[in-house]
Amino acid sequence: MPDLITLGWNAHFEAAFAPYREQSFEAARVALEYQGLYRVMTERDELLAEVRGKLRYTAQGREDFPAVGDWVALSRLPNENRAVIEAVLPRTSKFSRKAAGETSEEQIVATNIDTVFLVVGLDHNYNLRRIERYLILAFESGARPVIILSKADLASDIEACLREVEQVALGTPIHAISAKRGAGLEPLEDYLGVGKTIAFLGSSGVGKSTLINRLLGEERQKTQDVREEDSKGRHTTVHRELIVLPAGGLLIDTPGMRELQLWDAGEGLTDSFADIEEMAAACRFSDCGHEREPACAVKAAIAEGTLAASRLENYKKIQKELEFLESRTDVRLQQSRKERDKRVHKVFNRLKPKRG
Ligand code: GDP
Ligand code: ZN
Repeated sequence: MPDLITLGWNAHFEAAFAPYREQSFEAARVALEYQGLYRVMTERDELLAEVRGKLRYTAQGREDFPAVGDWVALSRLPNENRAVIEAVLPRTSKFSRKAAGETSEEQIVATNIDTVFLVVGLDHNYNLRRIERYLILAFESGARPVIILSKADLASDIEACLREVEQVALGTPIHAISAKRGAGLEPLEDYLGVGKTIAFLGSSGVGKSTLINRLLGEERQKTQDVREEDSKGRHTTVHRELIVLPAGGLLIDTPGMRELQLWDAGEGLTDSFADIEEMAAACRFSDCGHEREPACAVKAAIAEGTLAASRLENYKKIQKELEFLESRTDVRLQQSRKERDKRVHKVFNRLKPKRG
């Protein structure tokens, strides 16, 4: 059985867990959720758990319930392979969907992800606006983004694409790969250290499953289903959405994460905050920061209740992150470009069809 560190435990969770340890609760990580029942992994076993009634009662919304990737405090039921989830530890990152409509009901689809791979195909899927939208999702989540340009074997000019993506990536690492040919995969190992949790965002068909199968080290039709021996030595298939990879590291692959791609449809980067940018056009100052400036249309909208204050905060947060990344980009770009060009040459020259 894996120890807690193999499952992603770190100092942050250790500190948050202290009061629960005193109550003799056990730490566990959620590997699957189905209809209020959770499959959780502890350092000695795997079992099913339900949330404590009290937790259900005090929950403000769905974001207070456990989700795949969460660390929870557990108490075991005597003589049963069952447990009760007493608390959810604070998350280091989370991906969620805001349910449509007026309510701000938030549906968490995965949590505590360290690195999120933003996968964009170097075929018809290739689109800079799409990359920007995934970057926004990643920045909002708290996970560290890494851009993966997949199907590099289909690209006519990988280096031109890399340079273009660099312009919108703002310092985010970029890797071109071909999962099908197994090319360009080595650098990804850097993100897969023991206890590091990764996840993927990307349209359907960009090659996520193919890449996941590579990482799992063997061909699997449905990567989520992991075969394992039961107590009687029989092989059974257990469905999990949090998987410990053979090389160390953990993979989260939930239907919810896969559905985040729906956000993909149509909207541009600033479109995600088009309402705010439209309002801002009516601010007195064109460089209004929407803080304490007089005649600020955005603040007025919040006062009127037509704009949620949290949405403005989110907008500002993302802007700050983009600015921060921008400030680091120039130096990093120059440093990394040379090295990267060398790397790309080495990996992909082999793939190019030989002329003559
Ligand atoms: P997913 O929907 O993102 O999980 O995508 P899949 O992994 O199922 O791949 C979709 C299709 O793209 C399949 O037919 C794969 O064989 C193909 N594919 C995946 N990776 C590559 C690649 O690196 N190069 C090429 N040419 N095709 C790929
Ligand atoms: Zn303003």
